Amino acid sequence: MRIASKLPGVGTTIFTVMSRLAAESGAVNLGQGFPDFDPPAELRELVARHMAGGHNQYAPMAGLPALAAAIAARFRHCHGLAVDAEREITVTAGGTEALFAAIHAVVRAGDEVVLLDPSYDSYGPAAELAGARVLRVPLAPPGFGIDFERLAAVLGPRTRLLVVNTPHNPTGAVVSAADWERIARLLEPTPALVLSDEVYECLVYDGQRHASVLACERLRERAFAVFSFGKVYHATGWKVGYCLAAPALTAEFRKVHQFLTFAVSTPMQHALADFMQQAPEFADGLAPFFQARRDHFAALLAGSRFTLPRSAGTYFQLADYSAISELPDVQFCEQLARRHGVAAIPLSPFCAEPPPVRLVRFCYAKQDGTLALAAERLRRI
Ligand code: PMP
Ligand code: GLN
Repeated sequence: MRIASKLPGVGTTIFTVMSRLAAESGAVNLGQGFPDFDPPAELRELVARHMAGGHNQYAPMAGLPALAAAIAARFRHCHGLAVDAEREITVTAGGTEALFAAIHAVVRAGDEVVLLDPSYDSYGPAAELAGARVLRVPLAPPGFGIDFERLAAVLGPRTRLLVVNTPHNPTGAVVSAADWERIARLLEPTPALVLSDEVYECLVYDGQRHASVLACERLRERAFAVFSFGKVYHATGWKVGYCLAAPALTAEFRKVHQFLTFAVSTPMQHALADFMQQAPEFADGLAPFFQARRDHFAALLAGSRFTLPRSAGTYFQLADYSAISELPDVQFCEQLARRHGVAAIPLSPFCAEPPPVRLVRFCYAKQDGTLALAAERLRRI
């Protein structure tokens, strides 16, 4: 039977495509963003202990109170701000569910949703499934900051949601507190809300600090902020994340969440709650840990023909390949995996119009041996 697709433009995600290609071709996989090392041993032991201890049935819909309390404590520690654990925090099946639930909680058919390209691949389809008209504003290369003039030009009475990602995947760019103020000024005359994807919040480098949308007073009541434990605890396969938003938005968010997943894995939530309480320093140590990996990877590629723009955050490094090839980025990534044995992620699948640059993304959340092998192959090109 022929099915009239609700998402005719959507195929398999570029992450799956590139991971498959890496497996087929024996390439070192610096494509899909996941660490090739484990979560801390104590955290894994806590999961086992909670499973053995009988924490195996449904968790509360909004999340385990102990985990919500740990999240609130961490937010206070990082930002000096109070969040109401009961009314403002919802634990979700990863950042992905939180993004989808937030979009579906507030976007109606015919509303406009504004994305900043390159934009993470789930935003557009989630908005389209809600019946939205998606408008895309390119971030401005080479630094991929927000082009406020172009953003202002698309905002209007029909704008329901602006989606922002900071630190930004794939470019590593970060939004500053001053940027949030400018966004707040632009949104003030509109009914628009903000969805801020902050899954890489802990990965901000060179002494900078993550600026959460929720720290911007004027956006506090208008914003959802989305986080992921996958990035913080090297556990992307656990799919646990959360959404912080003012009580009125959280109430709407939970109406979707309760029918999308209802509740999230109970032993994982117990383990995360315990670990956050026992080892609060782990998350604080992530930025120095990944900054060192970023610098190590850059040093390994110093003799190559790739040029590496500075990455301010995330565990991704862009690489300019214009000295090597004139191929468009998707074909270049195919060639890179098949011929040179390294998988990367092209930028154009995240953009309505490919950016006027030749860049690919490498994930450096990898062990020394993996980075060394990849770099050796990349230096030979
Ligand atoms: N947003 C961004 C920018 C991401 O890179 C990712 C995945 N790495 C997600 C959301 C999804 O997070 P999760 O894996 O927790 O669903
Ligand atoms: N967020 C990960 C990345 O950017 C991929 C997640 C996925 O494969 N859906 O690489």
